Amino acid sequence: MVRRYYDRVHNNGRTEISGLPEADRDEGWIAERQYEVLRAISEVEKRTLLANILGTALIVGIAQMLPNRTAFLFPALFRFIAILLTAIVYERMRREISASRSIQRTITAGMAVGVLGGSSWALLLMPLLLEPSTHPAAFLVFGGIMICVSLVVTNTSSTLHIWAPFIFAFLATGGIGLAAAPTDFALVMGPGLVLVFAAVSLFSFGAAKQRIVAADMLVQNMRLGEELSEALSQAEFLATRDPLTGLYNRRAIFEHELHAEALCDPGHMMIIDVDRFKRVNDKFGHDRGDRLLIAIAASIRDGLRELDGDTHFAARLGGEEFAVFIDVPDVDDAIAIAEKLRLNIENLASEEKLPVGLATASIGLSALRKNETVGDALQRADDALYEAKSAGRNQVCYNPGCPYSLSRPAGPHRPET
Ligand code: GH3
Ligand code: MG
Ligand code: MG
Repeated sequence: MVRRYYDRVHNNGRTEISGLPEADRDEGWIAERQYEVLRAISEVEKRTLLANILGTALIVGIAQMLPNRTAFLFPALFRFIAILLTAIVYERMRREISASRSIQRTITAGMAVGVLGGSSWALLLMPLLLEPSTHPAAFLVFGGIMICVSLVVTNTSSTLHIWAPFIFAFLATGGIGLAAAPTDFALVMGPGLVLVFAAVSLFSFGAAKQRIVAADMLVQNMRLGEELSEALSQAEFLATRDPLTGLYNRRAIFEHELHAEALCDPGHMMIIDVDRFKRVNDKFGHDRGDRLLIAIAASIRDGLRELDGDTHFAARLGGEEFAVFIDVPDVDDAIAIAEKLRLNIENLASEEKLPVGLATASIGLSALRKNETVGDALQRADDALYEAKSAGRNQVCYNPGCPYSLSRPAGPHRPET
C-alpha cells in the first residue's frame, strides 16, 4: 500500500514535468535520477551532521532530568555510533557519485545504516515507554525525538531504499518497547505514534516528490546538453566536410587561411584536377565516377598520412578538383610529394582498368608564403594546373617553371594525345 501510494505520488510528478512517460525512460535515466536523488540526500546529511549530533546531545542532556536518566546512556551511545556510521556511508556515497562509480553496494550499506538509525531513535524512546513519566522533561525528550525522526523521514523519503529500512526499524523497535510498556500507556502511545508517523510520511512524500522532479529535470537537462553538443559537433563536421569524399570542403580550406601564419614558412599548395573525368562519367556512369572520386580522395589522404607531421590537409574544391596543402617548406620535397600523389592516382586508374588517359591527375603546385592568403597560393597553383593541362595532362607543374622535369609521366599509362 505504501509502495503504491509512493509510486503514485512520484510517478505523477515525473510524468507531468518532463512530458516523458515513465515507461519510456531507459535504465541509464533511472540510474542517473537515482544518483541525483541520493546526491541530494547525502548532501543534506552532510550539512546537518552537526545539528544531528547537537540534537542528540540536547535530547540526552534533557533526559538527565528524569529519574531513570542512566537508562538513556546506552541508547545515546548507540545513537552516536549510528550517526558516525551513517556519516561514513554517506561520505562514501558522495565520493562514488562524484566519480560516477557504481553505488549499489553503498546503497546496501545505506539500508543497513537506515536500520541502525531507525532503531537508535526508537531505543532513545525506550526509557520513556518502559517507565512513563509526567515530568516536563519527558515531553521535551519525546517531542525532540519525534522532530528528529520526522526530519530524517522527510530527507530520505525520496528513495524507498533508505526511507523504508529507517521507518520499519523505528516502528519495529518502538513496537517492542510498546509491547513491554504498561498496557494503558501503550494503548494511548501506540496509535498516537502510528498517527504521527502517518502524518509525517504523508507530508514527506509530498516534499520528496519535488526532489524527484528536480532530479528528473537535472537528468533531462544533462541529456539535452549531451544531445545538443553531439548535434553541434555533427553540424560542425558537416559544415567543413565534403559529404562524398569525407575530405574538407572548399569552405574549410579558406578557414585554414586563418591559421596560415601559424604554419611553417613557406608551405606548399596544390590543385589536383582529375583528367578527362567527364569521359569516365559518360562511359561508365555517374555512380562509377562517384566511386572513383572517393577512391582518389582516399589515395590523396593516404599519401598525406605518409608524410611527417599532421598539419597537411586535403579538401575537395568541387567536382573532380582537390586542393592539398602540405606543410613542407622545401620546393624539391614538395614537388616529389606532388609527383607521388600524381603517381598514386595514375596507378589507381590503371588498377581500375580505365582506358589510357582517363582519370589520371594534373597537378598545379605553388608555394604558400607567410602573410599571403590561401587564395593567392591557390590562384598560382591554378595557373600551374592550366599549364599542366596544356602540356598534355598527367603531370605536375610548379609555378613558376613549367613543365617541371620531375613531372614527366612514366610507365604504360601515358596520356592520350
Ligand atoms: P579535364 O581533363 O580538362 O579536366 O577534363 P574533365 O572532363 O575532367 O573536365 P570537365 O571540367 O570538362 O568535366 C568535369 C566533370 O566532372 C564534369 C562532371 O560531369 C564531373 N563531375 C563533377 N562533379 C562530379 C561528381 O560529384 N560526381 C561525378 N561522378 N562526376 C562529377
Ligand atoms: Mg576540373
Ligand atoms: Mg578534370
